[in-house]
Amino acid sequence: MKIIMLGAPGAGKGTQAKMIAKEYGIPHISTGDIFRANIKEGTELGKEAKKYMDAGQLVPDELTVKILLDRVAKDDCKNGYVLDGFPRTIPQAEVLDEALTKLGDRIDFAIDVDVPDENIVRRMGGRRACVTCGATYHIEHVPPKKEGICDTCGSELILRDDDKPETVSNRLKVYHEQTQPLIDFYSKKGVLKSVDGTVDMMDVFAAIKTILE
Ligand code: ADP
Ligand code: ADP
Ligand code: ZN
Repeated sequence: MKIIMLGAPGAGKGTQAKMIAKEYGIPHISTGDIFRANIKEGTELGKEAKKYMDAGQLVPDELTVKILLDRVAKDDCKNGYVLDGFPRTIPQAEVLDEALTKLGDRIDFAIDVDVPDENIVRRMGGRRACVTCGATYHIEHVPPKKEGICDTCGSELILRDDDKPETVSNRLKVYHEQTQPLIDFYSKKGVLKSVDGTVDMMDVFAAIKTILE
């Protein structure tokens, strides 16, 4: 099963993608996580990506597409995957589409997690991320057992630089201009499904399971 998560930054794509991955035994692939891992390791790719990420802009398509295609070619992706944060532009979607078509394959579901902009700004300010394992928390909605510490691995939790309000408004603008058109793109392909992302995360997941089953 090949699934794409669509939605604004902070809509809950990552939260849902992790649950889907666990439930269906497929890998969760987040281009944002791949970039952050590269930044942490100080690679050339990380240095390049950081410039764009800190400004709330998209990393150029050439860089992003290559990383994603390499990742989905790995063995663990044979039975499918859930993509979180890719594609984010029409050209990215077209490249993925061509690559899959060559393999006689296609995306099964593009799930749009719908959350209005007003809710997004509040959510991002409360998001806390684990620097080590990538787990995500929210100070009100999904608090860790011990403040500032990851439940899973015990590392420190941080507010991502790009989750500060100045950057969030820019990311929302970029979302509406460059990523939202994908809703129409996947709708035309007949694979678009929308879920209300404003309800409790377990209720969002229940709606997604109904779609997938
Ligand atoms: P969120 O889902 O909260 O927006 P992500 O972790 O998906 O966060 O992305 C963080 C940043 O990484 C984005 O703002 C962008 O700069 C970069 N990024 C991630 N995925 C892509 C992509 N597919 N294309 C371009 N840039 C990307
Ligand atoms: P995305 O990957 O789309 O950027 P995340 O999954 O990281 O979004 O979620 C953004 C923030 O909102 C996180 O702090 C997360 O814990 C919280 N969150 C996710 N889903 C919900 C929900 N249904 N209700 C309230 N908060 C949520
Ligand atoms: Zn952790």
